[in-house]
Amino acid sequence: MPMDIHFAVLKPKIVLGVAAHPDDLDVTSSGTMALFAEEGAQVHYLILTDGSKGTKDRGLSTKKLTETREKEQQAALEAVGGKSITFLDYPDGYLEVSMDLKKAIVKVIRTICPDVVITMDPSVIYSLERGMINHPDHRACGQATLDAIYPLARDHLAFSELDKLGLKPHITKTVLLTNFDNHNYIVDISKTYSKKVAALRAHASQFKDFDGLESRFKSMAENVGRQAGYSLGESFIRIDLSF
Ligand SMILES: [Zn+2]
Repeated sequence: MPMDIHFAVLKPKIVLGVAAHPDDLDVTSSGTMALFAEEGAQVHYLILTDGSKGTKDRGLSTKKLTETREKEQQAALEAVGGKSITFLDYPDGYLEVSMDLKKAIVKVIRTICPDVVITMDPSVIYSLERGMINHPDHRACGQATLDAIYPLARDHLAFSELDKLGLKPHITKTVLLTNFDNHNYIVDISKTYSKKVAALRAHASQFKDFDGLESRFKSMAENVGRQAGYSLGESFIRIDLSF
């Protein structure tokens, strides 16, 4: 169900995408990441888990799959013109909203100092529209990231040991949450859609019949874009933080 569409266009300088698994950011927001990068923003990815459960191949070891997925994510980042990736390597499927995880995210936020953070909407538990349960790692990622943005990255007394290391408090201005059922902000990805396709294609271990899948990604982008008068779009819940 779309909320009111938010039309003021974002022009970030530093963008941090935080997701649970390699491929999440490319599915939800790589057209947007590529656009921000083309417009001069530094784009950084933070991937919380090692992606080590993302296979049906019983012959593939956890270690090999993790290596493969990290390489794929690196290639996808290059396709969108991104600058860096941090992998935290928590075990895939077991992610919890712990203080340890929040501290690790705060550390990256205080290092990169993003004005925009893109992450997963933790309020999505299931979708009737799409007949799916949201992956628990996605919910944990979104919750821990929101908690890290506010108040933990902002307050110097939170994780004061980081402050002593020179990682000073940081205020993020805008959060974009990925949520396929609701949105209040649409980014025009008509110019960067080919980079999104290249980023998705990089995740070869995850997308077997890529050409069939690509037509589904395209019709999703067309449906979203149409709502804002764009040929192709990606949608978000945008929160502009006022404190
Ligand atoms: Zn995922």
